[in-house]
Amino acid sequence: MVVGTMGLLIAMELFTLIFAMNTLSAVRAFVAGEGYWSKAQKDAIFSLQKYAITQDDKYFLDFNEFMKIPLGDRIGRIELMKPVMNEKAIFEGFVAGKNHPDDIPGMIKLIRNYRSFSYLAEAIKHWTEADELLEKVQVSAERLHQTIQQKKILTPKEVNSFIVEISELNERLTKAEDGFSHNIGLGSRWLERLLLIILIIAVIMIEGTGLYLTISFSRNLSKVLKELNKAAQNVGRGNFGTLVQVSSQDELGQLAHAINDMTANLRDKVSAVNIRDEFVSLASHELKTPLTSLKLQAQMRKRKIEKSVPDNFDPAKILKMANEDEVQLNRLIRLVDDMLDISRIRSGSLTLERQDTNFNSLIEMVLQRLAPQIEESKTKVTLNVNKNIIGNWDSYRIEQVLINLLTNAIKYGNSSPIIVSCHEVNGTAILSVKDQGIGISTEDKNRIFKQFERAKTNQQVSGLGLGLYIVKNIVDAHSGRIEVESELGKGTTFTVYLPLELRPIEAI
Ligand code: ADP
Repeated sequence: MVVGTMGLLIAMELFTLIFAMNTLSAVRAFVAGEGYWSKAQKDAIFSLQKYAITQDDKYFLDFNEFMKIPLGDRIGRIELMKPVMNEKAIFEGFVAGKNHPDDIPGMIKLIRNYRSFSYLAEAIKHWTEADELLEKVQVSAERLHQTIQQKKILTPKEVNSFIVEISELNERLTKAEDGFSHNIGLGSRWLERLLLIILIIAVIMIEGTGLYLTISFSRNLSKVLKELNKAAQNVGRGNFGTLVQVSSQDELGQLAHAINDMTANLRDKVSAVNIRDEFVSLASHELKTPLTSLKLQAQMRKRKIEKSVPDNFDPAKILKMANEDEVQLNRLIRLVDDMLDISRIRSGSLTLERQDTNFNSLIEMVLQRLAPQIEESKTKVTLNVNKNIIGNWDSYRIEQVLINLLTNAIKYGNSSPIIVSCHEVNGTAILSVKDQGIGISTEDKNRIFKQFERAKTNQQVSGLGLGLYIVKNIVDAHSGRIEVESELGKGTTFTVYLPLELRPIEAI
């Protein structure tokens, strides 16, 4: 924009200058031409007077020679006034009028373009008048020449009257020449003043615009640099929240975008590091809890065995202890499995080993495996299945889905009854796990399927926020989908849709 504006103004100034130079040079050419014209006219009159006195033909020849200059200019003027002009004729006429060939194109342009302009129109009027007077001089000269040719000798009276006649014409010619020069002078002075004003305005505009653009450009530059500096300082302080507000598309705008991208990148990296730190501390805590419990159990048993009290070897008691150990060990295994699955999902290596899977048997098996937990949590689980459903799935992964959903229902179910139902509609198995526990708020419903995301209301219940993320990935890998319906304080239902056969997701 800056370069464009300055370029336009400079072009305008150059155009004005060229126009001024050409016009003034054409005016100067007319002034010079008028000098030759007047001198030639005076010399012609002088030769004619000498011819009348001496009647020597030599002076008549001189007269004719001098007359060629104004007559040449006259041809040019007449041609210039025609609607369609003959440029060659004008050129030849003006050259005969002793005008320099280089000046002639400018002279033609000046008359053609500005002949109706007052000063020029007035000057042309005087020029035309002078040409008419010259015609009269020519007529008188021709008459004198004829008389001299016939009579040979003129009487002093005849000579006198001729000289008086020619002198009168000469006086009138001088007036016409003065009128021409006067108007050309007036016009050129007016033009000089006008061009000077235009040039001054153009220079002031260019310099002013240049100054304005420089000031606003440097102001903008320092503003943007300050913004960039502030952004860099913020990033240095670890504050990645503020972005540089720059709307321009120039190099500074690109730099601002680059800084914004860099800030966003750093913010993502830092938040990833924070999430990882948080995960490591959570995972350590989650792993430590069952391990501590197992350690305590082991110490207790050791002490009981050392005391050798027969009551301590009661099979019912030992079975209870083994059940408790199993719960803790299952918890540990699940945690480790979850962590391994997360890295598999991240690296895209979660592959399915499909085989015909009896869904009902799988559910029953999972319920059996979770029996110690169910018992511990004092929850009642009802199974609602009406016919055998066989799906071509990765049974280990589907088992994981069931375990995660059921464990969650136990964890967040407040010991309320859980209903597991399963049926088939149009080649799709529909499984729902319904509890009447703490429920999930609407805003949390959108987050819980992402990794490390946990609802805000369950902070007292332990967990890593990975189970549903893994479940969703497994269901997606089977071209299925998972939905959640929940109300805070009333309970939650997770529904899983699994196509029995492998088919595109849009067909489900
Ligand atoms: P974790 O249970 O380890 O926190 P999950 O990914 O299994 O992780 O679950 C994510 C979050 O979803 C849980 O933290 C909990 O807030 C919520 N959630 C899952 N299942 C239920 C449920 N049945 N009832 C209430 N909230 C649930």
